[in-house]
Amino acid sequence: MSVVDHVLKNPGLLKLELMRRGLRVAAEDLEAVRRSGADASGHAVFGNTWDLDVVLPRDTWASVPVHPRLAARSPYLLVRDGAGHHHVTTEAPDAPRTPVTVKPPARFFEHTTSEGIPFGRIGTVHGPYLALSPTNRCAFLDGPDRCRFCGVAPAGAHDALPVADVIEAVRVARGEHAVNMVHLSVGWLGGDDGGVALLEPYVAALKKHFDILVAIDTLPPRADAWIDRTYAMGADAVSYNLEIWDPARFERVCPGPARSLGRERFLDALGYATTVFPSGGVLCHLIVGLEPLASTRAGMTALAEAGVVPVLPVYRPFKGRDMRADGDIERFPPTLEELSELYRDLWSLVRRHKLGVHLVRDLATVTTPLEGRFFAGHDGLLRRIGHRLAGSRLGRRTSARLSDLRRALRVREVGAVER
Ligand code: SF4
Repeated sequence: MSVVDHVLKNPGLLKLELMRRGLRVAAEDLEAVRRSGADASGHAVFGNTWDLDVVLPRDTWASVPVHPRLAARSPYLLVRDGAGHHHVTTEAPDAPRTPVTVKPPARFFEHTTSEGIPFGRIGTVHGPYLALSPTNRCAFLDGPDRCRFCGVAPAGAHDALPVADVIEAVRVARGEHAVNMVHLSVGWLGGDDGGVALLEPYVAALKKHFDILVAIDTLPPRADAWIDRTYAMGADAVSYNLEIWDPARFERVCPGPARSLGRERFLDALGYATTVFPSGGVLCHLIVGLEPLASTRAGMTALAEAGVVPVLPVYRPFKGRDMRADGDIERFPPTLEELSELYRDLWSLVRRHKLGVHLVRDLATVTTPLEGRFFAGHDGLLRRIGHRLAGSRLGRRTSARLSDLRRALRVREVGAVER
């Protein structure tokens, strides 16, 4: 069996390959994605440039680049059979055909806020997951402190949106998709709170209006009390994304966070957060391909040992800023074999340290620790016990109500101790 045939039969490898190399699609699918890839004024939508959402076998969501500039060289094709069902395959005559479900681009992107801002500029929907940024301001964007990979456009910055607009965006998204998690993010606003104070009214309103999980992605606050408050306000998960594990390289790739907060504060805040949030509720992204793999591996091992779930997105130049043009920062593009070994080891780590991965299970835009099982030699076993996995600690979807109940109990306990 060829390597490509092997890839087509393994949902984890196929997701990695499609995210790395793209997918060639028919003109009509491309046109639908193009329409969702920019708003009427031509601004690229929030974190979603030319991606098509597909559900691969084993309920594996993938957000796949289809831009012809990238995908033209990909061996993978999206085809329809006589009944109109989609498959991923190659041009080889006897290549396997992997059945997939194509999710049409969300109509969410056709809406605008009360202030006329297109929803696509404040958020993006990928299946059960909605990412939103109530403001795209970040003090690092305009100067030398900007993170080197950052894809946020400095132009078109808007102040914090009215809470009602964000609630309306979530309502629209839920009208179309079974959205069960909202991911709120904010850049560097300069205060001691890491930006979470700005997010607090949005979290409160989301919890009031919907039975939904809320994840927060901010820079770490300077004082741990803000981490307690993040949990108490209703966040179910928190990410403080170091992005790069190697200390010297972190300073070069993320100069603003390194100078304003420092690597140690990221690590201290992550460690403290694990004492506040339930297992699986503290996450840290390390971008794969912007430092040697040995460094990424050391980082994911240390994070998992500390109770933090490592999330390892592969650097995709077409998603953010293309760092191939940065002469001073070399890239380390990993091979498919190296990637599958890395995710296999990530899966072993989260199992060994009994970290919950339920909050990242449906992320389409990155490979999640749960997908590491496809590379770990457990796939056949897991298929046989699939129904049990679906109800287990690793596989289940977290209920927002149970999560809120745990929070109510913990916040009451902490309050009692403090009094
Ligand atoms: S913190 Fe870095 S990655 Fe985030 S918006 Fe600011 S410059 Fe971009």
